[in-house]
Amino acid sequence: MLSEFSLIERFFARRARASTPPLPNEAAKVPRAALGIGDDCALIVPPAGQQLAISTDMLVEGRHFFADVDPHALGHKALAVNLSDLAAMGAAPHAFTLALALPRADERWLAAFSDGLFALAERFGCELIGGDTTSGPLNICITVFGDVPPNAALRRDAAKPGDDIWVSGTLGDARAGLGLLRGEWALADDACAAQLKRALERPEPRVALGLALRGVAHAALDISDGLAGDLMHILKRSNAQAVVDADAVPISRALALLPAEARRACALAGGDDYELCFTAPAGAREAVERIGERENVPVTRIGTIEPIDSPADAPSIAWRDRAGAPLSLTLQGFDHFHAD
Ligand code: ADP
Ligand code: MG
Repeated sequence: MLSEFSLIERFFARRARASTPPLPNEAAKVPRAALGIGDDCALIVPPAGQQLAISTDMLVEGRHFFADVDPHALGHKALAVNLSDLAAMGAAPHAFTLALALPRADERWLAAFSDGLFALAERFGCELIGGDTTSGPLNICITVFGDVPPNAALRRDAAKPGDDIWVSGTLGDARAGLGLLRGEWALADDACAAQLKRALERPEPRVALGLALRGVAHAALDISDGLAGDLMHILKRSNAQAVVDADAVPISRALALLPAEARRACALAGGDDYELCFTAPAGAREAVERIGERENVPVTRIGTIEPIDSPADAPSIAWRDRAGAPLSLTLQGFDHFHAD
């Protein structure tokens, strides 16, 4: 049976040390950890003049993933959802900590989990610098540290009337994948079904896009709880309203195979996509298109930010169809303390 310390050494500390050399094209990047795993604290050196961007996300068995999920995918997703928060802020990933509660020290599970975790960490030059390991119901909590120049962060409170509203990628696949696992619907096309499940289990954090949008976008966030709910966060923080063309919200070919109602609910209110939703002035349209092409991420304009003129009005989303006719949709983002 593995002890706590041999478990940490074998699956996390050794791998972290092995993955620390600077990436070839990043030799100039400031060293990430001045002191990594093994002491009471890690020490990090924030790059001169930059702000530290910090975010924590927790994944709980039965709430965020099924007990039998592929541990490699789980390692990927646990870090991906955290990197996505840095992306949404326009921050560059530097380091992360990992707090892990494990029901048992299953070596095969740990090997696959840490493989998935480090594969993504290495792609983004993000170093594991510490954590905590305990026995208990499976729970994975990661804190990421990134950096962003002062005044460059893409904040939720920065949307301006007249801004376009954009989203990256396509929306709804992850929720559709969850529906497949739960048996809410089925797809005859195996390749499309696999694509939807992959979206749920292996989201791609839009780090390069977030960095490229610095100085171009106004407000941004990552869509973790569904477009309808997450866009409301921008509107509330920016005290604004939105008009959104529901038919302009981009969906994949796989999602298009679902019945119309399920398709729309997944795209507009489904969570776990980790695409970016951002606003940018109309004058930046070409710049945004070019960034999307350069970063190889589709970007789609879905609506506009409108001012709140009367104190009686509250932040809200007016949904329209392709022809501009109003749609009355009751859409809710995911809320952990309400039944879904
Ligand atoms: P402490 O007793 O101070 O809580 P621990 O004995 O829990 O320290 O951890 C020893 C070292 O191993 C620390 O540097 C800690 O950051 C690191 N560590 C513990 N668990 C993990 C983990 N899951 N991933 C990475 N580092 C870890
Ligand atoms: Mg500890």
